[in-house]
Formats: sequence, structure tokens, C-alpha cells
Amino acid sequence: MSGPVVQGWCPGALRPMLSGDGLVVRVRLHGGRLPAAMALRIAALSQDFGNGLIDLSARGNVQLRGVTEAGHPALIAGLADLGLIDADSQTEAMRNIQVTPFWNAGDGAQDIAAELVARLRDFPVLPGKFGYAVDTGATPVLRGAAADIRVEQGAGGLIVRAEGMRTGAAVTVGTAVDAALDLARWFVDAGGVTGGRGRMAALVARGALPPARFMAAPMSVAPDILQRPRLVAQGALVGFEFGQMRAETLAALAGFGDMRVTPWRMLLVEGARAMPALAGLVTHADDPLLRVVACTGAPACLQALAPVRDLARALAPKLPEGALLHLSGCAKGCAHPSAAPLTLTATAAGFDLVRNGTAADVAARSLTADELLAQPELLTETSNAP
Ligand code: SF4
Repeated sequence: MSGPVVQGWCPGALRPMLSGDGLVVRVRLHGGRLPAAMALRIAALSQDFGNGLIDLSARGNVQLRGVTEAGHPALIAGLADLGLIDADSQTEAMRNIQVTPFWNAGDGAQDIAAELVARLRDFPVLPGKFGYAVDTGATPVLRGAAADIRVEQGAGGLIVRAEGMRTGAAVTVGTAVDAALDLARWFVDAGGVTGGRGRMAALVARGALPPARFMAAPMSVAPDILQRPRLVAQGALVGFEFGQMRAETLAALAGFGDMRVTPWRMLLVEGARAMPALAGLVTHADDPLLRVVACTGAPACLQALAPVRDLARALAPKLPEGALLHLSGCAKGCAHPSAAPLTLTATAAGFDLVRNGTAADVAARSLTADELLAQPELLTETSNAP
């Protein structure tokens, strides 16, 4: 059986990806900001030109699903009116910038993100998945999000760091983008790109060392904090089942304020002092749905070997609190590319169970959906039999 197709690029608005339910049009917001007026318009565009389903991606983007080929040009025109369309697909692919949703006015996070965008044409051409994390809060919150160059608080102040390194270069808000640009050039010069692909962590893992100044300032050892729906200083952090919402939900949420996207498939409603009382939201930190991550699966994804979301919904309340189960429609593992404590990968015969690994890793055992539903404890027991 052939494995999943690895595209080597991320879909965008100008370069949408065909899925089982039509085109997936991924919209890269600026600085992770989704003002209420923009959210209303995106919701309307989703209803007019898509199937009314909107995903939040693991890179903090918004995806409109079910777009038709015929409707795509008008959708792009609508998104262009919102300032969300780049000059071309290469520029769009380069604008892969995640920003901590916990930024505060005047702390420099939005300034750095805006300068990165403004200077993208100064950067060398980088692989389609290459990206930046502007994670400048007191504690890191984007370490679990895919990125190649990170701007974050080091042990002694702001640093720019190559993914995979434990040190970076000391910078200020005003010099961070210069340093990021230098690091991107080093990545290319050091042979980080092969056949149009390549990631910083892989280059570092091969033993390549960045210039000395990127090894001078230690990174912070502060742990990444597991994010749950809750009230935070900047507003209300709300989740959605499998990170997906209906356009009507997004439109209703816009009534509560401007929003910020997160790489945990949640939205932060700016300034909210209470959790929004709306159907379709996950607002409790102990909601069982937070114990499962599931991709689109069959039939909406053409590569899926089985549906996964109904099974995820059914298994969620049977998992112990604090558990994390990733259900993947194939070995590609789109919904959770990094290792998870428990992963079920659909196969032609059922589901492969992987412990502490990714959807592509070697399975501890194989189970059917019926077995999983009848005996969910098979997931968490340590026996490898039969
Ligand atoms: S992991 Fe899921 S969404 Fe990604 S290609 Fe496989 S089936 Fe499709």
C-alpha cells in the first residue's frame, strides 16, 4: 500500500489544496489578528463560496473548506479587499509567521511580525514550510508550534534562535528581524535546502552550527504551558471541536470582540471578561473534547483510509483526564505532526496504536474501531498483547 502524499508545501489562498469536500483555502492573517469586522466578512465568504466550515490550523491560520473552482476567484477578490492576499503564491508561502496570542500593546511582538512581513523580499527564497515564531512573552507558548526561526525571551532577554539549538543571538525589538534574516541566509548557505525542501531542525541535527553570535545567549528553560480554554489577561481563550467551526459561529463570536488566532486551534477574544455563551464553543478546561485531536479524515480528505472524528468523539469521554489521543486518517498525521502520548492511525484493516510517537511511527498493536469502543482501556493499558 502506498503511503500518504507528502506535498512539501502548505496550502494557501492563492495555492489551495484539493480535498474530498472541495478546495481548502488557507488564509494567513497578519500578526495572527482577526478583527471582528474581518471575521464577519470571512464568515460570509465561507458561506458564499465554501461549504460554511472553517478550520483553525496548527500554524494559526484560518481555512475555508468546500470552495469550488468556480467560486475561488471571487473568494480571492473578497479576501484581497480584506488585505489578506499577497502579490503571488511565493510571497504568500514565505509569510509563515506565528505570533504569541498573549502579546500586549507596546511589547514589540506585533512590530517584529510587521517588520518581518515588510522585509520578506529581503529574505532568501526558503522552502514552503519554513516559518517564524514571534514568541516574545515572559514564558514561551509557541514551542510546540512548527517554526524554523524563533524570536523569544532567552535566559537574559530577547533572542533569535535556530530551531534545534539551545542558544540564540541577543537582540532587541529593533534588531530581531536583522538577526532572523542573517539566520535565514545562513540556513541556505549551510545547505539547509535540498530540492526545494528543508527545515532548520534537520540542518542542526546534521551537525551544522549557526554563526557564533547565535550560540552566545542561552534559551529560557521555562516550560511551554499546556493551553486550555480560560480567561487570560488579554481576554477569553475559546476552543472548538477539532478546531473547526461553522461560519455562523465565527460570525456570532465576532459580536464579542476582535480576535487573535492561536496554533492550538483556539481563538482569543480580546478584552472579554467572561467566556462567551455561544453554542459550538469549547469553554471548559476539563471538556473531554480537549483530550482528542483528529484530522478531517474520510470522506472529506482524499487520502484518508477511514473516518476518524466520530470515533474520536466517542472515545473522548472514555479517556482519563489529562490524556491526549491523536486520531489520524493516514500516516501523514496532519492534525498533530509531533509525537503524542497516544496515536491511532487509520489503516486498511483498522487502527494502528502508537505510544509516544507520531502517526507514521511503528505501531504497538492494531485494533478495530469496534474493539476500541468496546474496550477503550486497550488504549492506555501497557500490555502489548495480541
Ligand atoms: S492525516 Fe488526515 S487530513 Fe492529513 S492527509 Fe491524512 S487523512 Fe488527510
